Amino acid sequence: MHIQANYSLLPHNTFKIDVKTQYYVEINKQSDILILRTDMKLAALPWRIFGDGSNLLLTQDIEGVVLRCTFKKIKIMKEDQDNIWISVGAGVKWHDLVTHTVEQGWWGLENLALIPGTVGAAPVQNIGAYGAEARDSITRVQSLNIYDGQRIEFRNAECHFGYRTSIFKQEYINKLLVHRVTFRLRKSHSGKANLVYAPLKEALSDFQKKELTPLLVYKAVIRIRNSKIPNPERQGNGGSFFKNPVVDEAYFHDLLEKYPDMPHHKMINGCYKIPAAWLIEQVDWKGRSHGRAGVSHQHALVLVNLGGAQGSDILELSNLVQEDVNHKFGIYLEPEVITL
Ligand SMILES: Cc1cc2nc3c(=O)[nH]c(=O)nc-3n(C[C@H](O)[C@H](O)[C@H](O)COP(=O)(O)OP(=O)(O)OC[C@H]3O[C@@H](n4cnc5c(N)ncnc54)[C@H](O)[C@@H]3O)c2cc1C
Repeated sequence: MHIQANYSLLPHNTFKIDVKTQYYVEINKQSDILILRTDMKLAALPWRIFGDGSNLLLTQDIEGVVLRCTFKKIKIMKEDQDNIWISVGAGVKWHDLVTHTVEQGWWGLENLALIPGTVGAAPVQNIGAYGAEARDSITRVQSLNIYDGQRIEFRNAECHFGYRTSIFKQEYINKLLVHRVTFRLRKSHSGKANLVYAPLKEALSDFQKKELTPLLVYKAVIRIRNSKIPNPERQGNGGSFFKNPVVDEAYFHDLLEKYPDMPHHKMINGCYKIPAAWLIEQVDWKGRSHGRAGVSHQHALVLVNLGGAQGSDILELSNLVQEDVNHKFGIYLEPEVITL
């Protein structure tokens, strides 16, 4: 274990913001936490858990310790005729895991291809895309208490998964480090493609449903994502910056009267979800910039670093977008990205 002081977080956030943390340390196992806690200087500081920083906007240097889990083991736990259970270290890249599983012909994670970040963050965020969420496949999460190293295991129902959230992002944020995640996947003969997301169904319309394999779905997801979302390797970004807002039925009808073309999705509780990207397009922010920060011309929901932006530049831009949307539609856009 190597403790680094005054360490740049530039390689550890996809917005490509150059801020420093007072201390940086990568841990692998339970005993690493116990060893770190014996260092009085480190123990007295606040500790923050990072993955690959693909959902973080860093606006200032971090006082304290940034902890990253680099545990990378993948292990088959058990299998039966139809299913396989794998336990995966938090330090594995999410997309590498998805690639590995589709190469084995296992169903379950293919719709979540190309989401940046680590396996450890997947239950924290309950990542989701194209009609699938991490919670659909997670059976257990093994975590370590960062104060005393104690192991705590959660079953799926105990994780309190919600829309891009979980118990690890609420009461246990920066308290429990996700160390291993167990997924139940379907073997090739027992699973089937999840095509509830219309553009994915459309992209695979040349195939009969029974001809589809996890690999084919995975490739289609990658094609769609590459055409829509700027690659953070080329242009720093944090994916969708805002959540899609939800309005009640009465307010939805008021809005629809004024904006009959407004896209929407009725939810089971009778409320309506409105695409934040559409709202941002209506206030003319798509493709526009503010200093070195911009709204992607590919996707209005993605704020980008045009080169050399600071976190505060992106934050200022997000405030301007929020103000304009609020002014025109009376809707507050809640950020999905976590600002530090
Ligand atoms: C281009 C792009 C596209 C994206 N597309 C999607 C998408 O389609 N769907 C989606 O859901 N998200 C998407 N995201 C957001 C992001 O990829 C996910 O939120 C991802 O899970 C973050 O992983 P990370 O390792 O980078 O976590 P970080 O951003 O480093 O951290 C996110 C949160 O998780 C916590 N955390 C991280 N690791 C651990 C751990 N081991 N234990 C405990 N807490 C931890 C952190 O403290 C923080 O609160 C996208 C991001 C980008 C840049």
